[in-house]
Amino acid sequence: MKGLFVSLFLILSIPCFSQIKVMKAGDGWDLKVDSALALIAQTDVNVYIRLIDVCDIVDFWISPYSSNNISQDGNTIYIAVGDAKMNSIANLACVLVHESLHLNYLLHPVTQSLEEEEELKCYIYELSFINKLPTPEPWLQANAVEQIHKLSKIKTK
Ligand SMILES: [Zn+2]
Repeated sequence: MKGLFVSLFLILSIPCFSQIKVMKAGDGWDLKVDSALALIAQTDVNVYIRLIDVCDIVDFWISPYSSNNISQDGNTIYIAVGDAKMNSIANLACVLVHESLHLNYLLHPVTQSLEEEEELKCYIYELSFINKLPTPEPWLQANAVEQIHKLSKIKTK
């Protein structure tokens, strides 16, 4: 029954991503984000449900890093132009997954945690998603692992 529900959910949700508004920008960046959303839904339905639960808008911004913000107008994930220009749907999916956990912490603060601790949790969350991807680019995994090592060192100082 649960399997049926999950299958129905996937069938019903994959063709339309009406829950999240993707702003039009660049050379079809919004379409790439649509593909990234589909990849997330196919890879891990729970990660996808969390994402659509916390995020209303996906927008783009000129900054070295992707980020996020909660506001009256909608909770937004900002994709850095550099990430948008990289020709990798998997990278965009990773950005969305990573930032969705930050949004989740902003919306549902559990305990006061250090910035580095939250960052570490987001990279661990991202890495477990990468490990479920069928053919992730090796540098995606390498980057997440490197960040986890760096942040673990800060945390244990
Ligand atoms: Zn982060």
